[in-house]
Amino acid sequence: MSCCAGDGLISVEQALERLLDQAQPLREIESVPLASARGRVLAKPLMTGIDLPPWPNSAMDGYAIRYAEAGAPLPVSQKIFAGTAPEPLQPGTCARIFTGAPVPAGADAVEMQENTELLDEQRVRFLQPITPGQHIRPQGGEARCGDTMLPAGTVIGPFELGLAASTGAGNLEVIRRPRVALLSTGDELVEPGHALGAGQIYNSNRYLLAAWLERLGCEVIDAGVLRDDLEAVKQRLCSLTGADLILSTGGVSVGEADFLGQALRAAGDIALWKLAIKPGKPLTFGHYEGTPVIGLPGNPASTLVTFGMLARPYLLRRMGVAEVAPLGFDVPVGFDWPKPGTRREYLRARLENGVAVPYANQSSSVLRGAAWAHGLVEIREGSTLRERDTATFIPFSELLG
Ligand code: AMP
Ligand code: MG
Repeated sequence: MSCCAGDGLISVEQALERLLDQAQPLREIESVPLASARGRVLAKPLMTGIDLPPWPNSAMDGYAIRYAEAGAPLPVSQKIFAGTAPEPLQPGTCARIFTGAPVPAGADAVEMQENTELLDEQRVRFLQPITPGQHIRPQGGEARCGDTMLPAGTVIGPFELGLAASTGAGNLEVIRRPRVALLSTGDELVEPGHALGAGQIYNSNRYLLAAWLERLGCEVIDAGVLRDDLEAVKQRLCSLTGADLILSTGGVSVGEADFLGQALRAAGDIALWKLAIKPGKPLTFGHYEGTPVIGLPGNPASTLVTFGMLARPYLLRRMGVAEVAPLGFDVPVGFDWPKPGTRREYLRARLENGVAVPYANQSSSVLRGAAWAHGLVEIREGSTLRERDTATFIPFSELLG
């Protein structure tokens, strides 16, 4: 694996490996009703206690028959609706049957009503050759009692909820939500809804990250804004030591009054990384009195990229999620990249007719491009591209959930 980039920078892979090494999964398990389980992570494999389907049933509206008897018109001996228990099929007869209804014992095929003719009130003629087993969903065709339906570490989304419901599970065993204390730093920050003073900007990271953390299934402790003052930083960190993670933005650039770093040095450990990533670069990882702390860079596009590529997988691993890497796929790019960079670049880009088109302004302070874009184009360090060459595209939908 490529590790250290040039210029003493740490590669994205190396930073991720170090973060994941430290990401101890939470151990506490909760049993939650299915209706509240969306976004949670399975603590144990989900097994089915029944066969799926639990009995053979009809895939069509039509007639259940013994296929060998279909050569001659057959009288209808019973009508079987979904949710009822049929009688065994009398020899020499057929049963009117509807989609999802149990196939009666003795029947070995279903013919759809479109391929039949009702001769009189009671007899049905079969117009097409019939094959054994046709239009019958066999018992256990999807799963057998005892099969693992979902492995531990699965994030429960709509499909997983539906699948769990189909097995009859009323509750799911899930991992406790992580509590993430969210901090912003900077004397320039003002909350939206208030007037801007001279030199001030609105605090956008707080809203970006709070919403993102919630989408990932974290419990957000909104710890507000830290003033650029060492004592204030220490006091605030002290009050947050019950959290599973303290996540802050800003104040990690080189040359900045590094209060977060100073506080961490005094009461824990700290690693200050210069990452080969753009936007991004400075990232702090450490512990404050045993509580993990991640300090992301403050520019909103840098916050977005470093959270998505590094803090997100770290948090997911803490949450017990099995697959923490986002899915990316190769797309042709709609631009030239003639100059190889020393950092891995993540361009906010849109897919237009399958081609990745970057937002015109890729400045790390610009958030507008992220809202416009569909995802990130990854340009590896040292690489060049010609228009129509391919690069990895990571959709935001992969990163946000
Ligand atoms: P810093 O890392 O504190 O030097 O911040 C880098 C840049 O990001 C500066 O332009 C800050 O004003 C800006 N910034 C820091 N925190 C935030 C925030 N929460 N919302 C918006 N911009 C921020
Ligand atoms: Mg700052």
